[in-house]
Amino acid sequence: MIKFENTYTDLPEILYSSEVPDTVQNPQLLAFNKELASDLGISLSDLDDKDLAKLFSGQVIPDGASSVALAYAGHQFGHFVPQLGDGRAMLLGEVKSSQGKQYDVQLKGSGRTNYSRGGDGKSSLGPVVREYIVSEAMHFLGVPTTRALAAVSTGENVYREQPLPGGVFTRVASSHIRVGTFEFLAARGENDSIRLLVEYCIQRHFPHIANEEDIILKFLHEVAKVQSKMVAHWLSLGFIHGVMNTDNMSISGETLDFGPCAFIDNFSRGRVFSSIDKNGRYSYGNQINIAKWNLSRLASCLIPLIGEDEKEAITLLENSINSYLDIYESDRQTKMIPKFGLFESTDKDSDVVEKWLDYLESEDLDFTNSFRALSGDLSNFKKTPLFDQFHELWTDRLSNQAQDLDEARALMNSSNPIYIPRNHQVERAIQASLSGDHSVMTQMNELLKRPFIEQTDFEEYKKAPLENERVTATFCGT
Ligand code: AMP
Ligand code: MG
Repeated sequence: MIKFENTYTDLPEILYSSEVPDTVQNPQLLAFNKELASDLGISLSDLDDKDLAKLFSGQVIPDGASSVALAYAGHQFGHFVPQLGDGRAMLLGEVKSSQGKQYDVQLKGSGRTNYSRGGDGKSSLGPVVREYIVSEAMHFLGVPTTRALAAVSTGENVYREQPLPGGVFTRVASSHIRVGTFEFLAARGENDSIRLLVEYCIQRHFPHIANEEDIILKFLHEVAKVQSKMVAHWLSLGFIHGVMNTDNMSISGETLDFGPCAFIDNFSRGRVFSSIDKNGRYSYGNQINIAKWNLSRLASCLIPLIGEDEKEAITLLENSINSYLDIYESDRQTKMIPKFGLFESTDKDSDVVEKWLDYLESEDLDFTNSFRALSGDLSNFKKTPLFDQFHELWTDRLSNQAQDLDEARALMNSSNPIYIPRNHQVERAIQASLSGDHSVMTQMNELLKRPFIEQTDFEEYKKAPLENERVTATFCGT
């Protein structure tokens, strides 16, 4: 039983379109997230795998589900596209978690919609496996993210450069409202609908500001806060989203759309993985600037709602956006300093962080393993002048805090993961799944539930890729 609510369809009709998922030949369940289902009050214990496969490929629409595709626009690599939308996804409806929080349940890859443009509305199995593994790993690393409820293979091929097995992914999100949803309305001059959407977002994501004055500015500020936290967390783990277009930036501050994303291995601030990101727009080190740029796009949609005087509205919104980098600086400290065993931040800490990153970059070192090694035997690090400079700053900080070294090490080990979904391993899981073996995906999903804890028999997953295993480019999730 899934008890759906459908509050999104109470919004203006321009924002969605009713759809029916495609029929598929032979749906098979590859993964089902029982714990998440139970958190969401979804009780399906009377269903076997066959029934679940039918349900999570859209062959059976549960009672009370809405089945709609959502409209949005977006800036893609800086260029505005006024009409995007769920071209291969359908929202079944919303459910309430055990904590009373509302979540969307969405099928991805379930067929063409009103917004499919030239696309087939389908998904190949590769992106389904990638999103399942990486989004769940992000959750267990503590990063705000959408989640994976189910993965199903359809038994049909989809046609990309070559025929590939098709799949449907079931995504759970706090909502699917994006910066691009606002841009969609703004491009059409739908100011009343923008106001309704702001109210809806506040009710759903930021109820604590519902009764405040200057609500539009407050709303922008709340979005800035949650997005800043998310990006700070990404950077602290070496995560590169890969395609931070405004249509992939969630208003709720959850990591959304795992297309050409990757965790960095050998560290470089300019690293990109997306094969289409030729200019490094979405590189590791540029993610915060882009988050700010995306927020400015949201701010520009809000101008008509601030008041009569457009110039004054722009100034107010600009001031709000300009405070973003300060918010971010503080979030970055909060996320970074525990990785060095530091309990309270001081104004010297960004030197510690930057020197360390300089060292990793200059020695081409693995980001995750190097951080984890900070709590161990430091003699394994090559002693270069950069290392010495970092070490001096760092030990000075460690010796001037109240906590002892054991406490510092414990903090480091709870902030620096041992296991991340390494690119080459995700790729291995995808290749195995494409040939019908889903055991690698299952194993990774289990392992990555405890990323900070040593687990025997999983040595392989700790290792940085060998030269010939390195994945240098990932592709969009189509
Ligand atoms: P993404 O790169 O996944 O963020 O997708 C960008 C846009 O392309 C969204 O509007 C998607 O719905 C749409 N899209 C991606 N793949 C397909 C597909 N196979 N069929 C239809 N639309 C698609
Ligand atoms: Mg997208």
